[in-house]
Amino acid sequence: MTLHLETPLVESPPLGRAAGRTVLLKLESSQPPGSFKIRGIGHACETYAARGARRFLSSSGGNAGIAVAHAGRRLSLPVVVVVPETTSARARRGIEDEEAQVIVHGESWQEAHALAQSMTGETDAFLHPFDDPLLWQGHATMIDEAARQGPKPDAVVLSVGGGGLLCGVVEGLRRNGWSDVPVVAVETDGAASLHASLAAGRRVALPAITSIATSLGAKQVCERAFVTAGEHATTSVVVSDRSAVDACRRFVDDHRIVVEPACGAALSLAYERNVALAPHRRVLVVVCGGATATVAQLDAWAGSLA
Ligand SMILES: *Cc1c(COP(=O)(O)O)cnc(C)c1O
Repeated sequence: MTLHLETPLVESPPLGRAAGRTVLLKLESSQPPGSFKIRGIGHACETYAARGARRFLSSSGGNAGIAVAHAGRRLSLPVVVVVPETTSARARRGIEDEEAQVIVHGESWQEAHALAQSMTGETDAFLHPFDDPLLWQGHATMIDEAARQGPKPDAVVLSVGGGGLLCGVVEGLRRNGWSDVPVVAVETDGAASLHASLAAGRRVALPAITSIATSLGAKQVCERAFVTAGEHATTSVVVSDRSAVDACRRFVDDHRIVVEPACGAALSLAYERNVALAPHRRVLVVVCGGATATVAQLDAWAGSLA
């Protein structure tokens, strides 16, 4: 049993036309909790349960928290998610709808995180949103599937927050004999922690997150993501919030799927025929998804962003 679904791999005629090349989409948006996160978090939760964990804790008010809640419900184990006061009502509801307990604590994620850590006892497992080898192993299954489902791509395009998805995709490329397939790593301006680290030549922390793509809002990528971007052929690209939101809105019309700007960032490379795609004839875009955006919210952002 796995807690994630095998997702479709489809060729996209509209994105292909926009990009001027073949675009394959791995539709992680169709995972029931709304994003790819259930792959890694599901695998981690199953592993921790097998090792005797009786409860799961998380401090993510976003897709990681929703995935932990989903995994706990499926494994019949209780889940506590501690989120800061800034977490939207919609995100809280998403976690509660999966029957997890939500504790609202603190003005920022740091405070919520500290409480969740202090609550983690011997028979509990704490689920990190991106920095855990079990997560990367689980995320890698999307490349196992892609290798069965379709042709070898010339590049994989994906979004980067804390870098768990990047680590997992590269692990998947390696274990499927696709180590020579480069990765295009996309962040939004104001959440570009990988880009800043690559520019500095060392892992640096951003002073603040100013992008609307909150699911990409890790001030610092995990060590493994920074090392991976150095070892594996990786092109780092930064796009505007505006590009990310525009891509989300076009994607609704083209594929009838709502995704977060965190995912729109990756899609925007195809829609805007980004120069980073120039060397590649056939690209695989990870449609990472995201459960926290609505059409109304996308429209509001489109109206407010310059
Ligand atoms: C978590 C998340 C990301 C970023 O993944 P990382 O592993 O943190 O790099 C991108 N998109 C969505 C929708 C997410 O939930």
